[in-house]
Amino acid sequence: MMKVFHKNLVYLRKMLFLLYIFASRGRFIAISINLLYFAFHKARPPFMPSFIQIEPTNICNLSCSLCPCGNGQLTRPKGNMPFHTFKSFLDKNHGNLAFIVFYNMGEPFLNEEIFKMINYAVSKKIFVKISTNGLFKDKDTVKKIVDSGLDELLISLDFIDRESYKLFKGKDNFDEVKSNVSMLLKERGSALKPFISLQLLLVRENQDKIPAFIDLCRRLEVDRAVVKKARVGDYCKKSDPGFLPTDKKYIRDFYLNDKRKVDSGCLRPWVSATILWDGAVVPCCLDMDGKYKLGDIRYSTLDKIWNGPLSLDFRRAMLGKKNTAPICRECSIKSYFGNFIKVN
Ligand code: SF4
Ligand code: SF4
Repeated sequence: MMKVFHKNLVYLRKMLFLLYIFASRGRFIAISINLLYFAFHKARPPFMPSFIQIEPTNICNLSCSLCPCGNGQLTRPKGNMPFHTFKSFLDKNHGNLAFIVFYNMGEPFLNEEIFKMINYAVSKKIFVKISTNGLFKDKDTVKKIVDSGLDELLISLDFIDRESYKLFKGKDNFDEVKSNVSMLLKERGSALKPFISLQLLLVRENQDKIPAFIDLCRRLEVDRAVVKKARVGDYCKKSDPGFLPTDKKYIRDFYLNDKRKVDSGCLRPWVSATILWDGAVVPCCLDMDGKYKLGDIRYSTLDKIWNGPLSLDFRRAMLGKKNTAPICRECSIKSYFGNFIKVN
């Protein structure tokens, strides 16, 4: 009973804080006006992005076969974002920023300076989320995560048995990740953050495992179970449709159509940007290999990049009769919520 009450409090704290973040510093107005520019097909939104995805590192300790970072298909150099790059970026841009996700490619907690980055973002009253594979360098990481002030943590366990985990992730760490989830929840104790979610990745092996996954989440007492449809794109070595579930409701829309959906419905480049570990700004996380660089925060400011010629060209390509931006072909963002199965 007390545990359910606490779980509800953790959720309530998250939602209230999000509400506060968006209602303060004129952020809601800024987002709304930028969205109006999108709605009226204007390529130059007047306010800076409210959502930023930051890649602390593109180095990983797993070798997931469906991920370009894990299967060796990323061609860009590997490295970590230094704290000073992040700090200098945030010092210039925090006014409008509401939400930072520290994840793109790679395992964020492998960056030695990640906790300094979280602390600094939290001190600026920004909602901070991390997506991790849950395989930590040492036991101290669990305590550091809880102490960091992080608002939300998504752990990609992705499978519910050792064999499938090892097959897709390249290492036999299923039990270790499960144990880290338990340790995190224990360490959080009665604190109200971080909100902790556990993810299952739907591939053919997993399509009948949703009830077992929900059961696992209940036993581990995580705050939320997330079930995500797999992306089996051009970047993935195992893009064999054999990895897609046979049940169509577990497959992303664009794999069901011969002609991939390329429309103009994505508003993301009007409200968000993605920054790679080396400072390159790209339109979104779908540009995994950093092919469409819009600028670099080490040599320029985000306000110059945000409405610079390359960003304007990218948005204009999206606004034409057809979205002609090449990375959008591999994307199902218009049905973002359709990429998840609602379970709780
Ligand atoms: S843990 Fe994440 S970043 Fe690392 S290889 Fe797997 S999917 Fe890619
Ligand atoms: S790739 Fe997807 S998320 Fe990125 S800009 Fe294109 S449609 Fe939007």
